[in-house]
Amino acid sequence: MRKLYLLAAGLMVLTACNKTDFTATQEDLGEEVTAMAQQRACDADVIYQNQLATDPDFRQNQANLEKFIDQYEEDVRRGVRQLTTINIPVVVNVLYRTDAEDISEPQIQSQIDILTEDFTAANIEYSSVPADFAGVKANVGITFSLQGIKRRYANKRSWRTNDDMKKSSKGGIDPTSGVLNIWVCTLGNSLLGYAQFPGGNPATDGVVILNTATGNTGTAAYPFNLGRTATHEVGHWLNLRHIWGDATCGSDEVGDTPLHNTANYGCPASGHKSTCSGNPIEMTMNYMDYTDDRCMFMFSAGQSTRMIASAGARGF
Ligand SMILES: [Zn+2]
Repeated sequence: MRKLYLLAAGLMVLTACNKTDFTATQEDLGEEVTAMAQQRACDADVIYQNQLATDPDFRQNQANLEKFIDQYEEDVRRGVRQLTTINIPVVVNVLYRTDAEDISEPQIQSQIDILTEDFTAANIEYSSVPADFAGVKANVGITFSLQGIKRRYANKRSWRTNDDMKKSSKGGIDPTSGVLNIWVCTLGNSLLGYAQFPGGNPATDGVVILNTATGNTGTAAYPFNLGRTATHEVGHWLNLRHIWGDATCGSDEVGDTPLHNTANYGCPASGHKSTCSGNPIEMTMNYMDYTDDRCMFMFSAGQSTRMIASAGARGF
């Protein structure tokens, strides 16, 4: 459900989950790693709101991109612009302290393959999209190719959402220009990942994925073992909001997705109805909800146009 987006961002402070018995040595290693996430948690919106509040260039770039997307959508509607197929090269940056965190090349390649499947409607569940949404499910038409893998040892138990993993001066790996950068590491606060929306600082652009939620082999752990965390985060990287608009019955700026009360978790039964205006059936199988990997398997046509326009604006 689309409505005018208000830049009413308040500065949101990221809080670390510290245990009271931390010693200085432990703190140097980063946060205590909390138990494996049982529910999806993504901090992309927190990062987004923070950047809107603190970075005037980002704010202006986002406003310009929204205008560009509006025109792009109009051009597609009028038939003067055809949706196109594009390829996005990817560099995966792996940060590890333990051997298990230094994930294998097959695990990384499985993630790239899943991204291509999900963004080209080649995922096996695509034919299972309920009839309610058969008319709006979409082949986005983006393929991904692995251009390179960079690895670095860091004596850090976990990483925060302050982007240190993207800075060689902080023990991380600097981004490669002209590609989608994915950092794979252990994240604190039971986070599965986060992304930077278009229009931000190139030095921190890309997505971050928890190593045990990467790909579908190796250390990938149920229920986030089908590579959908990256699909969700790349959705943000291409300017998609969470489907509930990060507010009760909020807007995701997309015209063909239903209003959602809030995030859905786990694996909701098909036909789950919203109590928002009109009581629509919620699109819980959309990649931009918070459901488990096996229960998210579609983008909508509106999301697809928005992402293709944003990829074009990113130079792909
Ligand atoms: Zn998210």
